[in-house]
Amino acid sequence: MILTLDLGTTSNRCLAINASGQIVAFSQKEFLLSYPQPGWVEQNPDELWTSALAVLQQVIEQIDISGVLGVAITNQRETTIAWDKDSGKSLGPAIVWQCRRTAARIIALDSGAKAAITHKTGLLPDAYFSASKMEWILLHNSEARRLHEKGKLCFGTVDSWIIWNLTAGKSFVTDESNASRTMLYNIRTHEYDDELLEIFSVSRDCLPVVLDSNACFGFTDTSFTKKAFPIHAVMGDQQASLFAQCGDDTKKIKNTYGTGLFICCSTGESILESSNLISTVAWRFNGRSTYALEGPVFVGGAIIQWLRDQLQMIESASDSELMALSLPSNEGVYCVPALAGLGAPHWDSSARGLFIGLSRQSRKEHFVRAALESIAYQTKDVIDCIGALKKEKNLDALFVDGGATENSFLMQFQADLLGIPVVLSSFKESTAMGVAGVAGIALNMFSEAQFRLLFASEKQFFPKRDFDTMENYYSLWKKATDRAKQWQN
Ligand code: ADP
Repeated sequence: MILTLDLGTTSNRCLAINASGQIVAFSQKEFLLSYPQPGWVEQNPDELWTSALAVLQQVIEQIDISGVLGVAITNQRETTIAWDKDSGKSLGPAIVWQCRRTAARIIALDSGAKAAITHKTGLLPDAYFSASKMEWILLHNSEARRLHEKGKLCFGTVDSWIIWNLTAGKSFVTDESNASRTMLYNIRTHEYDDELLEIFSVSRDCLPVVLDSNACFGFTDTSFTKKAFPIHAVMGDQQASLFAQCGDDTKKIKNTYGTGLFICCSTGESILESSNLISTVAWRFNGRSTYALEGPVFVGGAIIQWLRDQLQMIESASDSELMALSLPSNEGVYCVPALAGLGAPHWDSSARGLFIGLSRQSRKEHFVRAALESIAYQTKDVIDCIGALKKEKNLDALFVDGGATENSFLMQFQADLLGIPVVLSSFKESTAMGVAGVAGIALNMFSEAQFRLLFASEKQFFPKRDFDTMENYYSLWKKATDRAKQWQN
């Protein structure tokens, strides 16, 4: 078995996954996100650690640990934590990937800095990545600043923080897929970049050592686990799901429909430069990096959560399906869910959310349907860009996972809009399965070919609606998106 920690944005989970790809034990703990100011998103680093440890220990209680080969970790990316190298104490809150507090700082970067970031990191300069979050911590936390000057500060993403704690401070490490999201890491030279470190005033010695995604990252301390298990395989969550869904196949695209939407495809050993998509490290195995194109969309399933929690239009996310189906069409109502600005492919942090096309006939069903459709339109925006860049217009299918794939209206609408089948994986837990696969291959639990045989498609949605209707829908979506852009200015 591989003990797999899936460290997400809203919960930490642990899954014991065996050589047949079965989940033999499972535990989950939700934790809080706090929103101290508009656009700010924080978490408590200590809660991230204690909940990760609790789920790991709960799973260990359920199984015979003699069958455990190792621990694998997949995690929410970019979220930034600072801690004291000597005491291991966290310094202030974790600044979550969604947090927009440094948006103005990114806009203020000069064009030379922006060009350097794009060329060296493959990313588009944005507050989403870790670098400006680290700079913010140094500017606003005097203790962090003091430790930084003394070379006694650790900056890390969630993987580094949890590994540091699990190994009782022995390993200060990350993998290349996570490092590539810091906006300080040069994906061409495979090291942190001096020019970028200088732009954000971060010193190299406070950053974790970057390892292969399938390396040994250290051993769990026996005060936490009965036995010292090797931590073997660490990957960012989207890269792990890409590995599970598509592997190295450069012709396959996957989309994860969770809080956000993450559309990714492997580009093999080449880095494709794009003005509206990110090039990122998919994984590095045995010293060889595989790259990916990625279109992160900040608000996906979260728009349904927002309708439920803020507007109380629905009781549960699953209610949205029947409400949308109760209408014969969207009846001209569109939603642009730019609650946190717009990510790929628009990259407009000043965009704000809107509903448009409302009339006296509009009911909450229209809001719900427009919100669900917006998830599919945003996906098409990104897939069209990937297609144009890779010059592959005719994709065979879109491979999907994530919470909102439960919604059959959304999946059917997505297939209609793209004009290709949407393939739902038999594995609900594709991020965990991806990194467990990497660990399992590294630890000889199975070969990659055997791992791939564990997958089957659970369900396929084939396009049914006519092309003209969907083109018309999509052109109105584009019009609505234009209205939402550049609002905050
Ligand atoms: P994450 O890993 O980002 O926390 P999940 O993959 O668990 O996300 O998916 C949760 C998201 O999916 C929530 O934003 C929720 O609103 C949305 N969601 C869950 N079920 C449905 C559904 N039946 N219809 C639409 N959206 C849904």
